[in-house]
Amino acid sequence: MRCLSCQKISFRTFCKECQKSLLKPNITKRIVGTLDVYSFYKYSTIETMLLTKHTNLGYRVFSAIADITFKPFINEFILNDSRKIYIVGIDEKVKNGYSHVALLTNSMKSKFSKVLHASLISSNHTTYSGKTLQFRLENPRYFTYRGKKDIDVILIDDIITTGTTLQEAQKVLQKSGVNVLFALTMADAKE
Ligand SMILES: [Zn+2]
Repeated sequence: MRCLSCQKISFRTFCKECQKSLLKPNITKRIVGTLDVYSFYKYSTIETMLLTKHTNLGYRVFSAIADITFKPFINEFILNDSRKIYIVGIDEKVKNGYSHVALLTNSMKSKFSKVLHASLISSNHTTYSGKTLQFRLENPRYFTYRGKKDIDVILIDDIITTGTTLQEAQKVLQKSGVNVLFALTMADAKE
């Protein structure tokens, strides 16, 4: 098969050269309210990859990117932290047979980290794409949390734009007695 990025022959979804150069994660941090949000890429850097989520390549692309970002991140993190860590994805709704966010959280399974799949689901599916901060604030996601209480959680999403969704999720989890350590997203859309 061919590298989805440069089209050279490759046994992997992305060839080694692309993983080392173009797709090399560069972790940035943003603070929204009281939540620290870390992202692996700037949105513009991997925009074409992210847009595959609307195509039949999405599954392969999101799995492959998770393997070079979220997976090494959690493996490194649990080496330096003795707590049992729980992973909660934002709104793991299944669309066309799978959930993009679930592909990201699934890569974070390990001996010391447990994924609580589909534990935080929203009841408002209005699209935020191209909408203002005001609109987002007036149309919250109305999350329901169905996971464990009294645990330490890392929140996962694919993209952070304004951060209102992550902040809302943090509040809902805190009300359920969950300690949100920080959030982790694939891409930060803030330029
Ligand atoms: Zn390549």
